[in-house]
Amino acid sequence: MAFPADFNRDGSGPRFGSQTILLVEDSRMFSAVLCHRFQTELGLHVKPCSSLKALQDALAQDGHGYTLAVVDLNLPDSPYGEALDCTVEHNIPAIVFTATFDVAIRNRVMERNVIDYVLKDNEFALDNLVAAVRRAMLNRKTRVLVVDDVTSARQILVDLLKAQQYMVVEATSGLEALAALETYGDIEIVVTDHHMPDMTGYELTRRIRHRFGSENMRVVGISSSTDRMLSASFLKAGASDFVYRPFVAEELQWRIANNVETLAQMKQLRAAAACDYLTGLYNRRYFFDHGPKIVNECLRQKSPSSVAILDIDHFKRLNDTYGHEIGDKVLKAVANRLAAMFEGSDNLLSRLGGEEFSILFPLMDSTSATKLCDEIRSDISRLKVTADDEELSVTVSIGVAEVSGYETFDNYLNAADQFLYMAKHKGRNQVFSDAKMTEEAAQ
Ligand code: GH3
Ligand code: MG
Ligand code: MG
Repeated sequence: MAFPADFNRDGSGPRFGSQTILLVEDSRMFSAVLCHRFQTELGLHVKPCSSLKALQDALAQDGHGYTLAVVDLNLPDSPYGEALDCTVEHNIPAIVFTATFDVAIRNRVMERNVIDYVLKDNEFALDNLVAAVRRAMLNRKTRVLVVDDVTSARQILVDLLKAQQYMVVEATSGLEALAALETYGDIEIVVTDHHMPDMTGYELTRRIRHRFGSENMRVVGISSSTDRMLSASFLKAGASDFVYRPFVAEELQWRIANNVETLAQMKQLRAAAACDYLTGLYNRRYFFDHGPKIVNECLRQKSPSSVAILDIDHFKRLNDTYGHEIGDKVLKAVANRLAAMFEGSDNLLSRLGGEEFSILFPLMDSTSATKLCDEIRSDISRLKVTADDEELSVTVSIGVAEVSGYETFDNYLNAADQFLYMAKHKGRNQVFSDAKMTEEAAQ
């Protein structure tokens, strides 16, 4: 565990690499700007098509696997939205981009189950289109639970949400809904009816809130009831939103989208709070929040774990000789090397501050952790950082302490710090620990 999951260090939100989208647009200016933005802001590959003919040729290729299409309704060779019909026929979900718009066009577009439509008539058109694609890509990773005992009513919601690209799970009662939340660990949005035979949507909302906070799960109530107090009751029970039936598709779509966006922003905030700005590693706060939980879980399993503090040797001298910027470059290089070494492992790595890093090794005694730390020490000593036409190298000293009882997490880190001090005292570029001390005493 080296980097906060799903987080870009530049704070730009999720990227959707290695997926390709179609961009059917005849304006060269729009097409060029959009291609660039989809690639740079969302990390998507783009296949531009400037006409219906170009679209048909692209779709005639085998194994194209386009995730979605952005389709201009009016092209010189398809003035009546034939390009949209073409993507629909090929089962490629579409976002429509259009300069002309009225109710008839809206109805025609909505009948084709498009993801969204974006109007070209304002200065935010391009931003809105990029946001619509970003939302659709995010929806593909978002699981929604639809709860309704009436099949036809449930189906309308399911179809609408599937068109929005959500992963949809269905439940026909409150109890089934609660069971689905346990079965699928990744449901983030619940859309629930009110009148159901086993429990009301209001009751379901209350029960969901006993298990999940609104920072992790959003509940949207929906009902054809004429009781105007119902929305207030739902919201007071912990629902994030409420919609009366009959609803306009776009209204429900946007209310759910706003909730997905809120969850994404909360995730981003949590990740930013856990991340060290310079290196992108977990920070001290995250280490002290999560370290004790991991250690306690190991103790519960009657297994030891070990904590290590790693400190770069003579780093002040390096800063004084080469400047702070080169110092930062070396810090990042060491952090990246450590992150690469711990990628995919359960070991928790963080930057404690300055040129100090901490590592928690779950289920590992001091002897094994000391051995592993010595490999890390040796690896870092071989690292070369190019700066000012020079190849710089650094060494690190590491102190390791075993966690085998219920003392505070701080105490074990202090112990690791004491061993680090001894490693420095013994000449630096070495590892010292309780295991090493015992070994030396025996000699
Ligand atoms: P020792 O071998 O005993 O660890 O000596 P040292 O020079 O590495 O340790 P000391 O604690 O004396 O100095 C650490 C230096 O790290 C001092 C501080 O200016 C520098 N430092 C702390 N944070 C940063 C940072 O974010 N970037 C850079 N470039 N330097 C930093
Ligand atoms: Mg140092
Ligand atoms: Mg230090």
